[in-house]
Amino acid sequence: MNNKYKILVIEDEEHIQTFISALFEANGYAVITANTYENAKHMYASYQPDLVILDLGLPDRDGMVFLEETRKAFSTPIIVLSARADENDKVKALDIGANDYVTKPFGSAELMARVRSALRNARRNIDALVTHNGKLILGDFSIDYDARRVFIKDEEIKLTQTEYNIVAFLSEHCGKVMTYSAIIKKIWGYPDDGSIKKLQVNMANIRKKFGYKLGETNYIVNELGVGYRMIEKSE
Ligand code: CA
Repeated sequence: MNNKYKILVIEDEEHIQTFISALFEANGYAVITANTYENAKHMYASYQPDLVILDLGLPDRDGMVFLEETRKAFSTPIIVLSARADENDKVKALDIGANDYVTKPFGSAELMARVRSALRNARRNIDALVTHNGKLILGDFSIDYDARRVFIKDEEIKLTQTEYNIVAFLSEHCGKVMTYSAIIKKIWGYPDDGSIKKLQVNMANIRKKFGYKLGETNYIVNELGVGYRMIEKSE
């Protein structure tokens, strides 16, 4: 298992565990499994995986506990599997430090895409993407952090101060879903009743300026009920 990514799959439902393990192995990953919180702690410590798939509903403890404890010391990408359609769980998991989530039932293509993206993002430190003159280039999109200017296809997009701050924040976490509350806290500090509305209005303006067209993903993806994610156009 030397040249393969090691994936720890924490899942107590046997048929899902088997399905995921077979899927990863077929795609060239090495798989380690655990079916309880206690077992997961042990396997994580023994194998130091490159990525973790974490079911939130474990028999002995809530998967959130594993997430929280792991995040205190490690930045290993963690993708949460949630059977619960409840948006609050996803938001909570992301705020605690999950890199992404997949809701059950999920397709194998979706899961693999999320895994590849999480591994890719973990590999590259955002600093490494910023050029010597302080620019971040993501396909057609580029942002000049020193001059606080944004370009698409070399054309400058005129943003307000707030719009720029939001775009800069999302770009610094490119590939990762940023929850509403994380964005609001960063941009406005403590949230109030109007915060989400304010964010949505700003987002709508940003997307319009970015040339958003219906049915197209244009740099910023709206993760309904959860937050926003900046993507590379090629995704
Ligand atoms: Ca479960």
